[in-house]
Amino acid sequence: MSRNTVARIDLRAIRHNLACVRQLAPDSRVACVVKADGYGHGLSRICSALKKADLLAVATTGEGFVCREHGWQGRLLLLEGPNNRSELEDIIELRADMVVHHRTQLDLLRQQSATPPGALWLKIDTGMHRLGFPVDDVAAVHGELEQLRGPQPTVLMSHFACADNRENPMTAGQIERFDAAIRGLDGPVSLANSAGILNFPDSHRDWVRPGIMLYGISPCGRERSTEIGLRPAMSLQCDLIAINSVRQGETVGYGAEFVCPQDMRIGVAAIGYGDGYPRGARSGTPVLVNGRRARLAGRVSMDMITIDLSGLEDARVGDRVTLWGEGLPIEEVAVWAQAIPYELICGVTARVRSVAD
Ligand code: PLP
Repeated sequence: MSRNTVARIDLRAIRHNLACVRQLAPDSRVACVVKADGYGHGLSRICSALKKADLLAVATTGEGFVCREHGWQGRLLLLEGPNNRSELEDIIELRADMVVHHRTQLDLLRQQSATPPGALWLKIDTGMHRLGFPVDDVAAVHGELEQLRGPQPTVLMSHFACADNRENPMTAGQIERFDAAIRGLDGPVSLANSAGILNFPDSHRDWVRPGIMLYGISPCGRERSTEIGLRPAMSLQCDLIAINSVRQGETVGYGAEFVCPQDMRIGVAAIGYGDGYPRGARSGTPVLVNGRRARLAGRVSMDMITIDLSGLEDARVGDRVTLWGEGLPIEEVAVWAQAIPYELICGVTARVRSVAD
């Protein structure tokens, strides 16, 4: 049998979290963001869990083909749109909607003889300055897209930079700029990511685009996910493979960074940064050993971590160690690792067995 290092994916939690989104934004259609392998949860299984989505949004055409191969016949959206002619051909073959955020994409569309079967999503830069047309160009670009589009109406969209912070005035400013830019234009509207759904009801409009909250994680901290009843869909677990007694003053791990303050039992668990456990996790980062809290002692190695087992006298080799999920909020681990939960869930590597319940 292979190493018992496993990501457990709870598909009922994903369905439940979609229902939470619908409760929060009852008048909007839901574009479920499933890029990066369903945020590390396994795209093929996420496609089947999200049968009730109104649309699946992906970053690459490869991800779009995975959705189609796994039975998703509904609407698909390419969030970055086509970046070259072959991507545009793939989007057409996929019958997918596409984001249009730059003039080069208008040129690609003009050179293409086939009318796109999916909708065009005109992306407007309202302040994030990553993708999107400047607000002053929107009316003209919209006019050009009207000539190029197929039967579906053009969707007007933008993306928030700071919506995870309710107090940050940037989001209201982005909404205001957006509304001014689309004045007089027809078409459905889409603004809200998870943070917008949670913090800015005024941004819900025709389509919401949740990603992280579908996986049971709030971009606004753990308290908000508990408040609205989100259920984490991933738990990451491994086995304790050794326990060593280490004397006071001796050190643990690379860099000899952790110095034992007293005689200690140090547990060694079978997960490391080669599995996607964050190397940034410092001594003190919480883990669960058989459901009870313990803390990392020493640096994360490629294949192992070391754990202070003080107070867990009954811990034994073979015990289950939980790195996040099932009672250990990933948001808390991310703070210790100086990371965001997005990075942690997307970073679990292929070496970890991923099983869905
Ligand atoms: N919309 C767009 C354009 C995105 O790029 C993303 C993700 O990065 C999302 C929505 C979903 O964001 P979140 O996972 O924060 O809900």
